[in-house]
Amino acid sequence: MEKKNIFSKIICREISADILYQDDLITAFRDINPKAPTHILIVTNTLIPTNNDVTENDETTLGRFFIVAAKIARKENIDKTGYRLIVNCNHHGGQEIYHFHMHLLGGKPLGPIII
Ligand code: 5GP
Repeated sequence: MEKKNIFSKIICREISADILYQDDLITAFRDINPKAPTHILIVTNTLIPTNNDVTENDETTLGRFFIVAAKIARKENIDKTGYRLIVNCNHHGGQEIYHFHMHLLGGKPLGPIII
């Protein structure tokens, strides 16, 4: 059997996380090591390792990421002040967990993207 990654374990509640949202396609929970006052991860329920593995079949799932990100931003009261959505891909993109996810960051001015 394939070994579950940390996000898969969070999704099926094998390990704990502060889960804010879950439906049939995606799950959102707070990042364990927040880089901003609000730092939430939105992840696919099924394993898509990286953005390179996304296919046409994932259109609904990926569309839902943005809808749920906007809903969570409103709930966290950062919609008006603003926020940043980030997807890291592979080594040069800074991806650590090979389970497709989007970072939702906000709660302070984030400044320009520093490379
Ligand atoms: P990446 O660099 O892959 O885009 O981001 C992975 C993110 O997952 C990091 O921001 C890291 O802090 C977060 N993370 C890693 N392990 C855990 C965990 O066990 N629980 C939670 N909630 N977040 C985690």
